[in-house]
Amino acid sequence: LPPRRELTGSDPVAVLKEVFGYDAFRGDQGDVVAHVVGGGDAVVLMPTGAGKSITYQVPALVREGTGLVISPLIALMHDQVDALIANGVRAAYLNSTQSAAERQAVERDYLAGELDLIYVAPERLSSAQTTSLLQRGKLSVIAIDEAHCVSQWGHDFRPDYLALGDLAERFPGVPRMALTATATHATHQELTERLHLPQARHFVASFDRPNIQYRIAPKVDPRRQLVSFIRSLPEGSAGIVYALSRKSVEQTAEYLRTQGLDALAYHAGLDAGMRARHQARFLREDGVVMVATIAFGMGIDKPDVRFVAHIDLPKSVEGYYQETGRAGRDGEPAVAWMAYGLGDVVQQRRMIDQSPGDRTFKMRMGQHLDAMLALCETVECRRQNLLGYFGQESGPCGNCDTCLESPETYDGLVPAQKLLSTIVRLQRERSQSFGAGHLIDILRGADTERIRQQGHDRLSTYGLGADLTDQDWRSIVRQLLARGILVARGDYGTLALGDPAAAVLRGEAAVPLRRDTIGRPAAGSRVRK
Ligand code: ADP
Ligand code: ZN
Repeated sequence: LPPRRELTGSDPVAVLKEVFGYDAFRGDQGDVVAHVVGGGDAVVLMPTGAGKSITYQVPALVREGTGLVISPLIALMHDQVDALIANGVRAAYLNSTQSAAERQAVERDYLAGELDLIYVAPERLSSAQTTSLLQRGKLSVIAIDEAHCVSQWGHDFRPDYLALGDLAERFPGVPRMALTATATHATHQELTERLHLPQARHFVASFDRPNIQYRIAPKVDPRRQLVSFIRSLPEGSAGIVYALSRKSVEQTAEYLRTQGLDALAYHAGLDAGMRARHQARFLREDGVVMVATIAFGMGIDKPDVRFVAHIDLPKSVEGYYQETGRAGRDGEPAVAWMAYGLGDVVQQRRMIDQSPGDRTFKMRMGQHLDAMLALCETVECRRQNLLGYFGQESGPCGNCDTCLESPETYDGLVPAQKLLSTIVRLQRERSQSFGAGHLIDILRGADTERIRQQGHDRLSTYGLGADLTDQDWRSIVRQLLARGILVARGDYGTLALGDPAAAVLRGEAAVPLRRDTIGRPAAGSRVRK
């Protein structure tokens, strides 16, 4: 441990300077610190990179006793403790990676009042032993990091968090803080309730990241689209590419390398040594592109990530925001780019259908997906949609694809009716249902074996949609799915009518659709020749 420093009772700004080397608090940090130093509870909602750690680290140093930090990510815990020790803070952690001897040493230091901060994994707090240990020493503040994990319906639920509700009874008089970068109204309410923070003051920072440009493109040939996106950025831009599966991560990294990019793969299936080497190269070298599953990124503090790309649709807007938030933490321009297509929608619906959760769970996952699709299909400002999702009102940003190049819209009523009535006719004929591919073949009057076999060339809508391309139709299906006019079902993504379909068929609902612009870079983006 570093040598003891007497900081109890010091001025928070002096501690900020002396220990962390920063001149001033940023945003709400100073107010949060003053409130907690004064003994108040706090709920802190700040986007990733805003500097939440300082808001509990400084009170822990200023107040008498040891600050308890509950953090679910062991790797992150190690990094934070190492960084604190480097700053001369007496910090330690208790978790399952330690030997009995190491644990005992930490416990001894804690009981002797030698620790400024102690990091503990949430599952430890469920044990009476840990509680009793912590009760025998003196806590200055309790910080519950990643507090959204207590939300059972959120995107990142961890059952161990539920046991954190009675910390007030276990440690009376110790100010408690709940911190998260997830700020939907529902999560906010839920965590305040479940963590029993009725008296807490709430600090809600702006979630806007103005230097991030949001761009979402329809998926046609994702790897090629990705390469041309990366080439549109200044040469040597470092970035993260998120893909859903390990296989896709490997293949994409391989493809990027054949295109002359310095790409590395990262997923939970790689051995720990390789993951560490790849992460180290990404952090230390310039211009590395990390192709990864969402296993990568938590706690990665690399300020100059110039882009975050998604080649598969994230499961929720919270996840999307968190992942894209890793771009541009230095405040310099950065891009969040995504390609998504009909296949993503069908695949995610299927994953929800097949998940072991109950009906309510599936419904909530469906709502997460719907919100994500609404962001993808909006013809208005992406940032406005994103911030609106987090309950923050704003005007059009002027720095997203829809602001820079207003999407062309058209009246999609007639094509929507053609598609819907094809489904109605097929359903009347027999009980079997079909996926988008076959329906589009019927509409475009394709001469396939399946169509001849089924006699679908005799349907009255056969060939009625030949004026549109296959790509146009896929775009229409996607948008109708996003609005619930169509619903995808089962393993094969067969299409059925959603509730609003009846009004569309009667011609009583308007169906404005956006025309896809594929491969055209957004105006204002730099293109390297
Ligand atoms: P969060 O937990 O909200 O994602 P961190 O606590 O990891 O954010 O802080 C993000 C970065 O901002 C870190 O590099 C941190 O050192 C830096 N930082 C935090 N507070 C300040 C400040 N007041 N002045 C300058 N830099 C700060
Ligand atoms: Zn915008």
